[in-house]
This record gives sequence, structure tokens and C-alpha cells, in this order.
Amino acid sequence: MKVWKKYEEYLIKGEWHIHTNYTDGENSVAELCERAQNIGIPLIAFTEHVRKNITYDFSGLLNAIDSAKEQYDLIILSGCEAKVLPDGDLDVDPEILKEVDYPIFAYHSFPKDIDIYVKSLKHVLKNMDVCTWAHPGAFLKRYELNLPEKELETIFALMNKYDILLETNIKYNLPEKKWEEIASEYNVQFVRGSDIHNIERLKA
Ligand SMILES: [Zn+2]
Ligand SMILES: [Zn+2]
Repeated sequence: MKVWKKYEEYLIKGEWHIHTNYTDGENSVAELCERAQNIGIPLIAFTEHVRKNITYDFSGLLNAIDSAKEQYDLIILSGCEAKVLPDGDLDVDPEILKEVDYPIFAYHSFPKDIDIYVKSLKHVLKNMDVCTWAHPGAFLKRYELNLPEKELETIFALMNKYDILLETNIKYNLPEKKWEEIASEYNVQFVRGSDIHNIERLKA
């Protein structure tokens, strides 16, 4: 079972996409937890950037999250944001996917080719460890690639089948309205992921 199912009631009230000063965020795990507790966010998930070769102390991050769990009165999840590779594999050590509570995937640098994109996406959705499609459609929008509606329907059907959440990302203002409607028809669930890089952005 995907870990998020345990916390389904917090999908919109929680904040499920946060970066810390371990990578490009500005604040520490403790600062973010403190702020979440103060403004009454019931759940936060740390989804730090990862690669196959991580250049920072990932276990240090997990330790910081573990001690925060004891210190703060909120649900704290460990996670990671992994980049999709052209073959549909993820740029992350599979051990890390298993170790954290809430792995999400995203398209960052990628070939500008809709067929490779669709094929890789269908592959990654079947990865039993991943929970959420982060900033969905951001890459397509940036490079003006069009995902045909028929493909989108297949994708949302797969997301429903494999319990993959669709992120509502305020930073990128995604997904688009049309996507939201089709996703709802396929009973895909939404999760709030604001791509927080600074505590000021954390909102109840
Ligand atoms: Zn991202
Ligand atoms: Zn992110």
C-alpha cells in the first residue's frame, strides 16, 4: 500500500512538496516544521531532490526528519523528488525509493519529444514505489509540446489504477483546468504540493 493512503484526509490540508537547505531550499527541516506547527498545517512531506549519485548527506537529512518527528506535533513524512529519465527509469537509487515515505517524480531536463515522454510516463506510473506526479505538465508547457487528450485519458486511467496522485502545484499553477477535469473523470486524486523553497511560502 502507498503510504499516502494512510493520510488521505490531509491530501489538500497538508503540504506535500518541500525543499530544504540540503538542496536549493532556504530553510532547515526544523525551521519548516516549526512554521508548519505554528500556522496549523497538519502534515508536511520533505521531497528533496535526488539523483543516482547524491552529492549531499541524504542520511543526515533523514536523521533530521526523524528527530523532528519526535519534536513537533505534526505528521512529518520523508520523501524525495526524482527526475524521470528517457527510458522511464528514475534518476534515483532504488533503495532510497523504498526507504522514504513519499517519493514523487517530475520531468526536469528531458528530450523534447512527446512520444518518448508518453512512453516514459506510462512506465514510471507502474513503479510501485512512486506516489505522485509533481508539477504535472510543466515540462510540456515550457517546450510547447502537446499531449493528445486520448493519451491523457490512458495516463489518468493508469494513475487511478496504480494509486498515483496528481499534484496541484501553486508555484507552477498546474495542472491546467482541462487536465483537472479529465483527471477527475478518471477519479484521480489531487494532492497539494506547493514546491516550497522558503518558509514564507508555507500556508495553512
Ligand atoms: Zn521539480
Ligand atoms: Zn520540487
